[in-house]
Amino acid sequence: KITGGLQKTRRVLGTDIRDLFKSAGRLVDDEFLDELFARLIRTDMGTKPANLIRDEVAKKYRGRVVELEEVIQTITEEIRSQLRQDDGDLAKAKSGPTVILVVGVNGSGKTTSIGKLSHYLRAARYSLVLGAGDTFRAAAVEQLTIWSERIGCEIVKGNKGVDPASIAYQTVEKALEIKADYAIIDTAGRLQTQKNLMQELQKIRRVIEKKIPGAPHEVLLVLDATAGQNAISQAKGFSEAAGCTGIVLAKLDGSAKGGVVLPIRDQFQLPVKFVGLGEGMQDMAAFDPDSFADALLK
Ligand code: GDP
Repeated sequence: KITGGLQKTRRVLGTDIRDLFKSAGRLVDDEFLDELFARLIRTDMGTKPANLIRDEVAKKYRGRVVELEEVIQTITEEIRSQLRQDDGDLAKAKSGPTVILVVGVNGSGKTTSIGKLSHYLRAARYSLVLGAGDTFRAAAVEQLTIWSERIGCEIVKGNKGVDPASIAYQTVEKALEIKADYAIIDTAGRLQTQKNLMQELQKIRRVIEKKIPGAPHEVLLVLDATAGQNAISQAKGFSEAAGCTGIVLAKLDGSAKGGVVLPIRDQFQLPVKFVGLGEGMQDMAAFDPDSFADALLK
């Protein structure tokens, strides 16, 4: 699944790296290393990860003539090690409902990601309740309602402008009442009034925590992969205010810049838990660093 969604990035990186080897082998010197660096950068991985890869290739091969496959393997291993994460699995409460709060800037793919995550959980036979906490946008509530009908799960919603914290509260209450395995709560993502939004997120957290100590068990930050490095600074505020525990990287299929996973992993110091690979219900995959690194360069 991950392999399919990364076609564009692979075309760029794979072809670019192969392109460095017009003849059978190549001498690894500064010229080669600079060209390699430039090609890595085109995937939007940013200078730090690209430098680490460059250094690794230099350390191993400088002054030697190398084959394409040797370099590909070294790059794959370095990417894999940069993406290593121990906590990539979705949290599960020891008992009672697992509460997942989903945050992110409008347009990042938040609502779609909630739909896909719900489908993923339903396919694994979990019961769930959705909370339409983005009460600011009527369209978001409508969209989530459609998802709940498609998936066949309960949804808690209110009128436009109702306090999102009260929706969060009722969602958790509903989850407890029907003994749901998961409660997934949407939140607003408007950037214009960022300060209020951050306070709102903190209030939602408090309300949930009051109802179930230790919840929310997971706070997922949805990022748009096509936004490249811009996504990073935009989402920093969300991550800090909401106490995020993991990332959903949406729209990785639509981007020639899958390399963006590397700086995201580095700068947020959060595990990437899922990647979005299309607009359909099934177009999401649990993120696995190994298959990602392989897919990127195979
Ligand atoms: P929200 O404003 O953050 O809730 O964003 P939406 O969930 O409404 O998504 C914004 C747009 O991105 C919609 O047109 C979605 O269909 C699209 N989208 C979301 N996730 C993905 C994805 O993984 N791949 C692709 N290609 N499109 C996506």
